[in-house]
Amino acid sequence: MKQVDIIIVGGGAAGFFAAINATLKNPDLKVIILEQSKDVLNKVKISGGGRCNVTHACFDPKLLTSYYPRGQKELLGPFHIFGAQDTVNWFGNHGVNLYTEPDGCMFPQTNSSETIIHCFLQLAGKYMIDIVKTSKVKDFKYFRDEKIKFEVLTDTETYTSGMLMIATGSSSFVWNMLERLGYEIVAPCPSLFTFNLPQHPICKLMGLVVKQTRVAIQNSKIVTEGPLLVTHWGLSGPAVLKASAWGATILAERNYDFSVIIDWVPQTEVSDIHNLKETLAKKKVISNAQFGLPSRLWQFLTEDVVSDTEKNWASLSKNEMEGIISQLKKCPFQVKGKTTFKEEFVTAGGVALDQVNFKSFESKLHPGLFMAGEVLNIDAVTGGFNFQAAWTGGYLAGIRMADSI
Ligand SMILES: Cc1cc2nc3c(=O)[nH]c(=O)nc-3n(C[C@H](O)[C@H](O)[C@H](O)COP(=O)(O)OP(=O)(O)OC[C@H]3O[C@@H](n4cnc5c(N)ncnc54)[C@H](O)[C@@H]3O)c2cc1C
Repeated sequence: MKQVDIIIVGGGAAGFFAAINATLKNPDLKVIILEQSKDVLNKVKISGGGRCNVTHACFDPKLLTSYYPRGQKELLGPFHIFGAQDTVNWFGNHGVNLYTEPDGCMFPQTNSSETIIHCFLQLAGKYMIDIVKTSKVKDFKYFRDEKIKFEVLTDTETYTSGMLMIATGSSSFVWNMLERLGYEIVAPCPSLFTFNLPQHPICKLMGLVVKQTRVAIQNSKIVTEGPLLVTHWGLSGPAVLKASAWGATILAERNYDFSVIIDWVPQTEVSDIHNLKETLAKKKVISNAQFGLPSRLWQFLTEDVVSDTEKNWASLSKNEMEGIISQLKKCPFQVKGKTTFKEEFVTAGGVALDQVNFKSFESKLHPGLFMAGEVLNIDAVTGGFNFQAAWTGGYLAGIRMADSI
């Protein structure tokens, strides 16, 4: 049996950040990280296509919460204490400078996730954090009124401590374990996926990007805006990924069989389209793309509803005019299936948030037990927000654990 001050289960983003910040606060602490895999920080390594999108240049806590379909309300207080600016400062203070891309995503200047891993491992070494790999935690016992509250069991060893942190990401095994201990677990389902349109002719336009679109999921309140990418299997791009995140639960319930309506020109009024009948009277419709749409898409949308490729705007029938408006503003697609987004995917669901005190990420059921990262029912759209939630939770839990010993 080994005794330490703090046991951290899970050597991922949240676990490492908690361990390091606890020891930065109190360098005398004995902290151990138990990791089931052969390596730690595996997701950090592959994140952002190997570049690690560390956070997002969104420095207003309230605005930052708006990127979280689950966790929006609960993260407001924590972001006031450790938000995106604190992440930038923290990494800068530890030798990792970040830069911002035009869309707000922030990466290490080296453009390599190895820089983050190197930073964490160096600090872990400096503060003598014990990292035990291939060490899957099978169970733990809780002794409410004792100073040594936790007994943590792996296949080969038993560890005891006064503080325990669960930072196991999206692990069904751990969620089942927590359920047996009385925690409510919100059923997990994937978030951040693209929409499949099997055999749909629009897929012939693969690679096409429309800079500003509005995506609405039918029979729901979900409406998102942003760029849209047509792929060889369906629809992708930020507007679609956002819709998949906000719709994660209901789209799982619909078994990924649902309709979306695309507004290809959200900044254009219907009256602007009607006006073309006069302003472009003599111009051919199908061969002259309007409103900044790519010609290939314009042709695809209009040739479905305009009978003759030579027709000009003045000679369009009422039905053809209505058809164009409908294609541009309310273009329907039947989605059947999803594809995981390769750059970043997360799991919605996890430990229900009303069981956690968000001042410190401590459990309300078991004082001394902390949880952060994807183990909680918190997730965000793509752009560095998922790591930000892991840093924030890891930081607050680490500081509180250090203070409590
Ligand atoms: C391909 C990909 C790319 C991504 N890119 C980005 C990005 O660029 N930016 C961003 O913000 N987000 C990104 N994400 C999401 C981000 O990686 C996660 O939100 C984040 O890693 C969650 O951190 P975590 O510490 O909660 O979990 P994890 O990083 O998953 O760590 C959990 C750890 O716990 C271990 N573990 C589980 N069960 C046990 C057990 N019983 N005993 C011991 N150890 C256990 C696991 O092996 C794992 O190492 C990406 C995700 C993927 C899949």
